[in-house]
Formats: sequence, structure tokens, C-alpha cells
Amino acid sequence: MKNKSEAVVVFSGGQDSTTCLLWAIKKYNKVYAVSFDYGQRHALELTCAKEICDRLGVEHTIMDMSLLNQLAPNSLTRDDIQVDKDAPEEGPPNSFVEGRNMVFLTFVAIFAKVRGITDIITGVSQSDFSGYPDCRDVFIKSLNTTLNLAMDYDFDIITPLMWIDKEETWEMADKLGGFDIVREMTLTCYNGVKGDGCGECPACKLRKKGLDAYLSRR
Ligand code: ZN
Repeated sequence: MKNKSEAVVVFSGGQDSTTCLLWAIKKYNKVYAVSFDYGQRHALELTCAKEICDRLGVEHTIMDMSLLNQLAPNSLTRDDIQVDKDAPEEGPPNSFVEGRNMVFLTFVAIFAKVRGITDIITGVSQSDFSGYPDCRDVFIKSLNTTLNLAMDYDFDIITPLMWIDKEETWEMADKLGGFDIVREMTLTCYNGVKGDGCGECPACKLRKKGLDAYLSRR
């Protein structure tokens, strides 16, 4: 029997995955949130994730993925690599962790299958595509097929934010009653400043642009 009343959310504690968590809570009887510890320079990210799960009454699991940092050092995990101030003209920013979404989704799929769960929710979006190949819809569909074949199972990778931008993501969180939780409790900033962030890094700029646009018509 397939369990369609439960779901697993890939959860970083940022704006997007928190919005997905709010979305999942409305749709499913039980939601599991899974975060990954890959040596993020800002361990605060995991603290934020935990606080949000506590607030929302969601079971939270943190998986050790330190291997990822060993494989693909980047500015989010290494003190000696500075975060880019602006997005580069071409290709992903240096905060990009090669293969991260594929690795995370694969582990979450195993986590889900063990519990008889098929539905996996991730906050990836093609709209704010900053050169991250593993945020593309075509990749998610491809991985979904691969995971189904790998485990002989009917996973359903669901991407509520795939075709919406940051402004619409704010709107979605608001409609789900979680505007303040997203605004105050999430961490998106590459420099590790919670809530509205440092205001300088590309993640903060993108977040603020969307927030300002949404607030101007709220
Ligand atoms: Zn920032």
C-alpha cells in the first residue's frame, strides 16, 4: 500500500524550502523534514531549520553529508573561499555545490521509501535560475525516473516553486499563513545573517527584490 498521506520535504531552513514545508503541512497528514549537514560555514542554517520545525511541529532529521564538502569545496563551506558579491555573468556562482540536489534527493528518496512514502517535496525553482543545472525541471523529471528505476518504486518528486519567482514565493508563504515565519525565522543569506540578511550577497538581493515587489502590492 502506498502511503499518500505522508511526505518528506528536503529542508534547508531557507525561504524556499520553508515555503514548501508550509505547503506540505496543509496537504499531508504527516510531514518529515530532512536537512543535511555538509559543513556549511553557517551552522546557524541547521539551527534555523530546527527552530522552524519545532515551531511547526514537524519531525526533523539532520543527515550527515560532510562527504559533499570533501568532494566539492565551495564558498558556503570553506572559510578561505569568499562568497561572490554579485552573480557571475555566466555559470553558477561560487556558492554552488556540485551535484547537491541530486545527492540530497537521492538520500531523501531512500529515507522516504523506508517509511513507505512516495511524495518528496523540494523547493527548487527554474524561474530564478542562476545557472544551477540541478534546479531545472528536466533534471528533476530525469532523477524521478532514475530513482523509480533504481528502487523499483513510484516516487513523486513535487516542486511547488518550479515555475514561480521569489515574489510569488512570498505570496505563497503569506497565503499559507507563514509570512512572518519565513521573514523572521529563515536563513537565505550566504553570509549567515538570519531573516532579512546582510543585504549584500546575491541571495539577499534576490530575496529582497522579491519581498519588495510583493509588499508593494500586498
Ligand atoms: Zn546576505
